Amino acid sequence: MGLYEELCGILGAENVFKDEPMKSHTTFRVGGSADWFVTPEEEEQVREIVNVLRKEKIPYYVIGNGSNLLVGDKGYRGVIIQLYKKLSRIHVKDNTVYAQAGALLSKIAAEALICELTGLEFASGIPGTLGGAVMMNAGAYGGEMKHVLKSALALTPEGEFRVLPVEQMELGYRSSIFSKNGDVVLSAEMELKTGDSKEIRAYMDELREKRVTKQPLEYPSAGSTFKRPEGYFAGKLIQDAGLQGFQVGGAQVSEKHCGFVINKENATAADVLSLIEQVSEQVEAEFGVRLEPEVKCIGEF
Ligand SMILES: Cc1cc2nc3c(=O)[nH]c(=O)nc-3n(C[C@H](O)[C@H](O)[C@H](O)COP(=O)(O)OP(=O)(O)OC[C@H]3O[C@@H](n4cnc5c(N)ncnc54)[C@H](O)[C@@H]3O)c2cc1C
Repeated sequence: MGLYEELCGILGAENVFKDEPMKSHTTFRVGGSADWFVTPEEEEQVREIVNVLRKEKIPYYVIGNGSNLLVGDKGYRGVIIQLYKKLSRIHVKDNTVYAQAGALLSKIAAEALICELTGLEFASGIPGTLGGAVMMNAGAYGGEMKHVLKSALALTPEGEFRVLPVEQMELGYRSSIFSKNGDVVLSAEMELKTGDSKEIRAYMDELREKRVTKQPLEYPSAGSTFKRPEGYFAGKLIQDAGLQGFQVGGAQVSEKHCGFVINKENATAADVLSLIEQVSEQVEAEFGVRLEPEVKCIGEF
C-alpha cells in the first residue's frame, strides 16, 4: 500500500492533500508546497498517522495556524499535520476551560468571556492555536500561557498518550518541554477565575486597540520575528541600527514596528530569511547583541 492509501485509510480522502501550497496555511503568506498535508479530525487519528510515519521513516511536522512559521520556497519534503480547524472543540466547566489543540486562542478567549471567566484576555489577539501557544508558551501584555494552563494531553513520538501537569511542561520564554521532546500537544485544560464580563470585554478591547495602533496588522507577518534578548527590546535595537523600513526583495522591516518583518509585496521565503540574517548581523555588529529568530523555519529554501 502506498502512503496516500495509508493516509486515506486513517483520515478519509477528504483530509489528505498532495502538493499543498504552504503559503495558504501561514500568516506570512509565503512558502512552497508540502508533499503531503493532512487534517486529522480525531486525536486517535493523529496517533495512527504518527505511528505510520515513524515506521516508514517519513518526516512530519505539526502545525496550528502557521502564525509563527516560515516555510521555504521549495516546500516541505514529508507530511504536514495541521490541527487547526478540525481538532478545535472547546468546552467549559466551572472555572476550567478545556480545548483541543487546533482551537484558536481568540475563540477560546471569546468563550471564556461568554462564561464570565478572566485570565485569557492577554491571548485574545494572538492569532495562533492552543497547541502552538502551549508549545511556544505564547504571551503578551504581561500574560503568558504558563499562568493559565493546568495540564495538557500530549502524544509522544513513540505514539503514547500522556497527560502533563503544567509543572512538568518546563514553560519558559517562548519555550516548553514540547519544543525539545517532539511531543504533539492534543488538548489542554486552563484554569481561569470568575470575572465581570464588562471588565473582561473592556480589557480585550484595550489590548486590541494597542495591537491595531502599534503593529502592522495590515500586512502578512509572523508577529515579532525575533525573541526579546535579555535586557533589550529587539524592535528598539533594530530601529537604533537604522533598519526601519529596510527591505530585501518583497520582505521589509516594518516601518510601524521594527520588531516585525512583514511580507510587503510578494516576498519569497528566501527574502524573509535573508532579511532576518542581515538584520541579526547588523544589530550584532552595532550593539554586540545577537538576535535569535522567534519564528520557526522549516522546509527547503
Ligand atoms: C500579527 C501577529 C501577532 C502575534 N502576536 C503574538 C504575541 O503577542 N505573543 C506571542 O507569543 N506570539 C505572537 N504571535 C506569534 C504566534 O501567533 C504564536 O507563536 C502562536 O502561539 C503560534 O501558534 P500557531 O498555532 O500559529 O503555531 P504554528 O505557527 O502553526 O507553529 C508554531 C510552532 O508550534 C508548533 N506546534 C503547533 N501546534 C502544535 C501542537 N499541537 N503540538 C506541538 N507543537 C505544535 C509547530 O510545530 C511550530 O514549531 C503573533 C503572530 C502574528 C502573525
